[in-house]
Amino acid sequence: MHWSRVFKRARDQKPVPLDVYASLVDALYDVRPSLLIGSIASAIAALITAWKADEPALYAFAVAIALVAWFRNRDMLAYARVRSSLKARSEYRRWEHRYVIGAAVYVALLSSWTFASFGTGDAFIILFSFSVTLAYLIGVSGRNFASDLLVTSQIICAAIPLSAALFLAGDYYFVIFGLVLLPFFAALRLISNRLRKVLLDAVLASREVSELARRFNTALNNMPQGLCMVDADRRLVVANQHVPDLIGIDPEQMPSGRPFGEILVESLVPRLRTDADAEAFVARLEQLLRTGGVTYCELADGRALAFTARPMSDGGSVVVLEDITERRNTEARINHLAHFDPLTGLPNRNRLREELDRALATMRRSGPLALLFVDLDEFKQVNDTLGHPSGDQLLGLVSERLQSVIRRSDVAARFGGDEFVVIQNPMSQPEEAGHLAQRIIETLSAPFQVGNHQVFISACVGITLAPRDGSSADRLLKNADMALYHAKTSGRASWRFFEPAMDAEAQSRRTLEQDLRKALDGGEFELFFQPIINLRNRRVTTCEALIRWRHPERGLVSPSDFIPIAEEMGLIVEIGTWVVEQACRTCASWPSPISVAVNLSPVQFRRDDIHGVVSQALARSGLDANRLEIEITESVLLQDLVESQATLEKLTALGVRISLDDFGTGYSGLTYLQSFPIHKVKIDRSFITDLQPASRSLVLLHGVAELCSALGIVVVVEGIETEEQMATVLSETSIDEAQGYLISTPLPPAQIATLIGLTSGRIGWGPLGKAVNQ
Ligand code: C2E
Ligand code: MG
Ligand code: MG
Repeated sequence: MHWSRVFKRARDQKPVPLDVYASLVDALYDVRPSLLIGSIASAIAALITAWKADEPALYAFAVAIALVAWFRNRDMLAYARVRSSLKARSEYRRWEHRYVIGAAVYVALLSSWTFASFGTGDAFIILFSFSVTLAYLIGVSGRNFASDLLVTSQIICAAIPLSAALFLAGDYYFVIFGLVLLPFFAALRLISNRLRKVLLDAVLASREVSELARRFNTALNNMPQGLCMVDADRRLVVANQHVPDLIGIDPEQMPSGRPFGEILVESLVPRLRTDADAEAFVARLEQLLRTGGVTYCELADGRALAFTARPMSDGGSVVVLEDITERRNTEARINHLAHFDPLTGLPNRNRLREELDRALATMRRSGPLALLFVDLDEFKQVNDTLGHPSGDQLLGLVSERLQSVIRRSDVAARFGGDEFVVIQNPMSQPEEAGHLAQRIIETLSAPFQVGNHQVFISACVGITLAPRDGSSADRLLKNADMALYHAKTSGRASWRFFEPAMDAEAQSRRTLEQDLRKALDGGEFELFFQPIINLRNRRVTTCEALIRWRHPERGLVSPSDFIPIAEEMGLIVEIGTWVVEQACRTCASWPSPISVAVNLSPVQFRRDDIHGVVSQALARSGLDANRLEIEITESVLLQDLVESQATLEKLTALGVRISLDDFGTGYSGLTYLQSFPIHKVKIDRSFITDLQPASRSLVLLHGVAELCSALGIVVVVEGIETEEQMATVLSETSIDEAQGYLISTPLPPAQIATLIGLTSGRIGWGPLGKAVNQ
């Protein structure tokens, strides 16, 4: 058997780990006292036999045994000296060999001494030497089982001389003795092998267990959480080193066996945020240890801990403690972002909904409340003129002022853009809501300092009351919005309470919007035409196309009732295109040079390619461009001067003429007349209504007419209803053309065609609303 297999594990034939091997070698060298005593005893025994037999060979054995013992003792001392410097397996192996050689020589000497004793023939000497050697051999398996090589070599070194001695003794009984002795040697080896296996297995198993425990311990102490185990009586069994840190207690204060709840209460309760928290925490903790689950606690220093307990089958539980301060702060930040407007720091629309729902849910107890919808006036201008950063700054300042006029129990939120909502809660009298709206308007109307600019804005407020006007958040927000809409139509810096009629109005408007969407495809629009005549020759110069909506249920709807809605909906673009097409087609059937005038909405100027629409309509109808007049209002010119001017110039380039409608109702900037390509000015009907000789209106009418004729612009007066008005216009002014019920009301295409045909374009005037044939 090769020596290197000696320390292999019997089970899996892997070499034993170095540290185990080293301790086995240590065990060999660790028996110096017993080796000394045994060797001295053996040397004395040999000496006694030598003395009794007076045999020099036996003296030599006594000396040799003592010498070998002396060498082995030296070796043992040498091993003790170098032991700490031994590292490699090969070094230990060398020392093992030295021991094996020493022991083999020693045993060989002992058994050779016994062999020599047989030569004396003295029964005492034979028995004495044989017993001493055998006694030594019996101890071999107990002392040297750690090394198979050692045991085997000693057995061989002992067996050969002893067996030889017995076989050579010449007596058959000795031969039988020798034969009986052989199984003894085999058993000796088996016993030591078995002992070694048992020992190695035990050593390796305990080594594995302690390694596992060490790794487990490392893992437990290196996990970021605190971990502890409690038994079925809720007493602490074990805890990792984070637990005392997390709960802020001296590790000494948490010995195993102490009730776990008691440890937590002692360490955490004094550090919780409030007494109420403490009470709730203790209750939750008991529940947690009973049934498992998760609970949290907030400490006064801002930290937050989470406890997760999981019950085990033996009735105990595992509790994980975690510092969730970071996670909680992150969640709080995300939550803040989701619920608050980053610009103003006010609750956002989502949060407003929650606040409103909460307030409505407790309204029975806390009493009525008011919802105020605030919309800034002129905010867009600030954004457009000073830029968005200034706009943002202004919104911040607005929110500060809003907060300064509300109470702690009220809520101000940013609804979006320049819209804010205030929940006035509680509100005992509706007047209180009115007062708050007034205060909001006043505070927002005071000048703001934005950068280097003083900015003036104001606000409109719509108010709705709960439960009077509704008790759901949706309803109230809608009501407040409707009230705001009405407030805005009454002008800047105004506020309105919601009224049920507004709802009805909004409802009917919604229906109107739906109907309007269908009207164009349904062919429900018609064009009426109203003639405009030249006051000098009474000939019809132009007919103004005026749209009518023949609604299936409402009958004929006036344009002033639906054009503004169509403008808001953007539908005016499609309607306007239809009007231009239709007007051109109709005009093409009239005798030349009678023209058609088409009203264009400012919205069309913003959104549509007017030039394209007009040229297409002209092309399709074959109408001469100079028989088409486009009526615009001053607001078109105000929108974007450069853009409008370019569009108008493109239209004029086509040959189309431009009329300035409703002149005198807007800014009436006379400079337009000079800077824009305007061919006609239509003076608004309002000038005619109080047209008395020597009135202010007449002076203005006269003045505008003079100015326009000087600029080569044709002047039309609108809304002539009476003979008197006509007479005054004719006698007091130099106005070129006139339009009005006195001449003719707007007429359907067939009638206007008849009128033009019958009169050959020359119309007189008779009683109100009737065209008179001349
Ligand atoms: P507008 O362009 O100033 O048209 C003149 C309005 O005055 C017409 O009202 C006409 O019927 C009315 N009118 C004419 N003579 C008299 C009179 O002697 N006495 C009174 N009391 N009224 C008179 P209508 O047709 O109801 O149109 C109202 C407004 O609707 C128009 O004012 C125009 O701004 C707009 N509109 C009409 N058709 C269209 C259209 O096709 N497109 C656009 N964008 N607007 C249109
Ligand atoms: Mg008009
Ligand atoms: Mg007009």
